[in-house]
Amino acid sequence: MRITAVEAYPVVEPVMTPYSWRDGLPSSPDEYQITWLRIATDEDLDGYTYIDRGAIAVDLIERCLRPLLMGQDPLKKELLWHLVWELDRIEELPIYVLGAADTALWDITAKAAGLPLHVLLGGCRDAVPAYASTATFATTEEFLEVADQCLEFGFKAIKLHAWGNKRRDADLCQALRAHVGPEIDLMYDGSAGFDPYEALYVGRACEEAGYRWYEEPLREFSISAYRGLCDALDIPVLAAETVDGCHYTAGEFVLAGAADMLRTGVDFRGVTGSLRVAHLADCFQMSAEVHGGGLPNLHLAAALRNNTYYEAMVLSNPIQVEPGIDPHGRIRPPDEPGIGFPVDLNSLRAGISPLRAYPV
Ligand SMILES: [Mg+2]
Repeated sequence: MRITAVEAYPVVEPVMTPYSWRDGLPSSPDEYQITWLRIATDEDLDGYTYIDRGAIAVDLIERCLRPLLMGQDPLKKELLWHLVWELDRIEELPIYVLGAADTALWDITAKAAGLPLHVLLGGCRDAVPAYASTATFATTEEFLEVADQCLEFGFKAIKLHAWGNKRRDADLCQALRAHVGPEIDLMYDGSAGFDPYEALYVGRACEEAGYRWYEEPLREFSISAYRGLCDALDIPVLAAETVDGCHYTAGEFVLAGAADMLRTGVDFRGVTGSLRVAHLADCFQMSAEVHGGGLPNLHLAAALRNNTYYEAMVLSNPIQVEPGIDPHGRIRPPDEPGIGFPVDLNSLRAGISPLRAYPV
């Protein structure tokens, strides 16, 4: 099989309900710029994925990925992931582009095999528990209101993205635990909003409140700061979400004792890079928690034994929940061959985006 076309389709989607992240980070845009990547072959099998960016993704697909991939065998993901890695040395690709071609190639491979991607990847479970991953709401009261809606919907786990203020965030973490009781899994994501001393303060609050994990309190450039945090806290520190260098850098976090769990996920690594991180983590009996929603991540979450949850964004109040999450807070990946994006090429060419599986 040979690759015969590498195409970029930019689409624009409205943001139905604007939302915020922590203080200091930009809020949601007015509209999403998304680029769909199509890789076509001489055997009539197409692979798809999308990148959450517009013009920059189109440029990198057309100027860099197309000449690299044309004529190649699409089943050779190990080779082609490495060729993109070599391209990265020259181009310094944004991490959201690093694994995009790889994900589309896995879509082709799974279609060629006649298997849904999660089965091809190893197949661990048919349904994955999802956690409600919040945007940043205005007040503690609003967070508790949203939490009530999430539990009523059926979620058994909630992750906070809060304000990035150590006292407010620590108080919120404890208020939420008091509100939902001991049985609900809670996680906290700092979105890199703290310095090491603030990170310790919030981490202790999450630890006392029995949170499952403490995620990315610091920018992920200081491995020594993360090691200090891991040494000082008993709660598992989840790190290496946004690092350049994929599994190579994740390995340095493990070696230094700077993470207790690793972030993985196709958005920043492709499927091949995600598997490498997950297997690296498994070598040390660590979990590899899949970052972000969407169908490729859902397949990955279902395929990995050492992943706990699927991340389902809950960005609005009243809550809107992505299609497919059942009343027990679980979600099943599609069982058709490939990733299962409902792509209609003519609609895509007309600028109409297929469903990415989460509300916008
Ligand atoms: Mg995160």
